[in-house]
Amino acid sequence: MAPNMSFYDRFRIRHGSAVDLSAIPTDDDGNLDQKATQEATTKLIERIVELQELMYAEGKHSLLIVLQAMDAAGKDSVIRNVFGPVNAQGLNIASFKAPSAIELAHDYLWRIHSVAPRKGTITIFNRSHYEDVLVVRVKSLVPEHRWSKRYEHINQFEQLLEDEGTHIVKFYLHISPEYQKRQFMQRLEDPKKQWKFNPKDLDDRALWPEFQRAYEAALSKCSTDYSPWYVVPAEKKWFRNHLIASVIVDLLESLDMRYPKPDFDPSSIHID
Ligand code: AMP
Ligand code: MG
Repeated sequence: MAPNMSFYDRFRIRHGSAVDLSAIPTDDDGNLDQKATQEATTKLIERIVELQELMYAEGKHSLLIVLQAMDAAGKDSVIRNVFGPVNAQGLNIASFKAPSAIELAHDYLWRIHSVAPRKGTITIFNRSHYEDVLVVRVKSLVPEHRWSKRYEHINQFEQLLEDEGTHIVKFYLHISPEYQKRQFMQRLEDPKKQWKFNPKDLDDRALWPEFQRAYEAALSKCSTDYSPWYVVPAEKKWFRNHLIASVIVDLLESLDMRYPKPDFDPSSIHID
């Protein structure tokens, strides 16, 4: 590996490169040892907690994390496992469902921009504006002449956020249809998980190849230096968590944040 290269760099999509998801294994574990990796991930998560405190105290930057995937790939599990320990005061989760009537009466970025993170905080998008070039494209919810312009809108929008201090990183949780089937079966068999299953999920499953083509286009056109996409092999959960935690720690470390210096001399303060 070249200096400054990390094990996760090969999962980062280069802008404009041809993406063939079928050539990327969904169960890759990077040849890492599971036990040692899990211990390392625990430490990385502790570091995320510290860095988020620092981000909150400094109040200059914010972080937007986008999670996209086919159903049952583990978006909720990433939020719980990697970000569960973060101070809830500085963490927001925004989940995007099919747009409401009022949302549809606006442009598609309206509901997105309004919940972008404020300075000092992290927001995780569980689904995102990318649905507007994924499900919308696959199901022809708007005509092609409209969705085809959205990749450029999205790049411009993400550039605006970055220019104004919101750093962005995007993860596509990559699974196979066989894995999804196993997850669906588990949901159906467990009374505590049945609520997670929506029979309509099978409509999206039937369109698997079309969704993969739409993902490939979005990953290729919208992975930029300022807002990269990572394709995360998601079937080995411990590897998935490790990859995501590693990217987040390195990104936060690169911001070179500092605790604010008090504008008084703490040693001069006497409290009776
Ligand atoms: P889930 O995340 O499984 O609860 O499902 C949310 C559903 O909302 C998914 O089927 C998404 O495809 C759908 N959805 C999210 N955003 C949009 C959008 N902009 N247009 C249409 N459907 C959407
Ligand atoms: Mg669903």
